[in-house]
Amino acid sequence: MNPQGFLPVAQPFLGGNEAKYVNDCLETAWVSSIGRYVEEFESLFAEYCGVRHAVSCSSGTSALHLALKALGVGPGDEVLVPSLTYVATANAVSYCGATPVFVDSEPEAGSIDPDDIAHRISPRTRGVIAVHLYGHPADMDAVRTLARTHGLFVVEDAAEAHGARWCGARAGSLADMGTFSFFGNKIVTTGEGGMVTTDDDDLARAARLYRGQGMDPERRYWFPVIGFNYRMTNIQAAIGLAQLEMIETHILRREAVRRWYDGQLADLGGILELPRCNPSAEPVNWLYTVVLRDTVRMHRDELIRRLAGDGIETRPTFIPVHLLPPYHDPDVNLPVAERLGERGLSLPTYAALTEDDVAHVARSLRRHLLESSA
Ligand SMILES: *Cc1c(COP(=O)(O)O)cnc(C)c1O
Repeated sequence: MNPQGFLPVAQPFLGGNEAKYVNDCLETAWVSSIGRYVEEFESLFAEYCGVRHAVSCSSGTSALHLALKALGVGPGDEVLVPSLTYVATANAVSYCGATPVFVDSEPEAGSIDPDDIAHRISPRTRGVIAVHLYGHPADMDAVRTLARTHGLFVVEDAAEAHGARWCGARAGSLADMGTFSFFGNKIVTTGEGGMVTTDDDDLARAARLYRGQGMDPERRYWFPVIGFNYRMTNIQAAIGLAQLEMIETHILRREAVRRWYDGQLADLGGILELPRCNPSAEPVNWLYTVVLRDTVRMHRDELIRRLAGDGIETRPTFIPVHLLPPYHDPDVNLPVAERLGERGLSLPTYAALTEDDVAHVARSLRRHLLESSA
């Protein structure tokens, strides 16, 4: 265990060229949003995802907003989003003046439930955002088939799934547009930052236009649309490039963490649902997330408090967005998302975690759960 005797739930891993590249920005004074790291990071990221275009931006939230603006989402439109996600997925729809329509989760990986999508399509529905929750890809075959049938666009919110694959293809290449976050707790970080990916030249051009305040690339100070300042700085991109150079290491170390947890917690299968994997998916282990089975009487939040008492930080699963004040609708009932939101918790998951750390978490979890069921 680390010397403080405290295990955080997440921690960035900055073991590569981050300092060297950032220093280069400072020494050359290319500290703002023009510079070679922005270009290099974008092109390496596009290559990594297997797409033609990657457009860097200021956050995962701005990436979602740019993708929806590029796709022409506006007032009167509806966009289907899973309720069990970070609130940014829904907020980006609201920023466009459109309405997010919430969809339930499938019980396996907690991602958007394709069967429930079909029920929520209306004449106003323009598209669907699939979220690769906790690093496990959504069922993209089912989502894309439904979208094609109904003439909808698909955006994948891959904020939690850098490097994950579905049927062999990387997250970011699985829909009309992909979006990523580089917040400090994500698999690749730039401090704050985001990326939009796409194979479509027009969508990429539109995302760049909106990112840079809407200024026409051919005519300075001519603004054909109302855009945003969502640019990434060269310093952020310098960190991102160094991170991306080591992404295989980041992913492999997180995979080891998954195996250790799977092994250490295997005997608690009657009490805990451990993460499951769709046979078409190669997930990445963003946050190892378990769900208390219905027989467990201890409240999830009490378990979180007790683990904290042992120096272990965990985090509750997302509160489904349809239960939050800006979106609350008493008529909407999404039982799977609500159950996962109440009974799930994410355990410490990051590249520097050791097998001893994982054993410590598993011991503490076992003790509190068995005490409560005794
Ligand atoms: C982190 C996250 C975002 C938002 O990313 P920011 O960089 O914090 O704006 C969006 N969607 C999901 C699913 C996320 O986990």
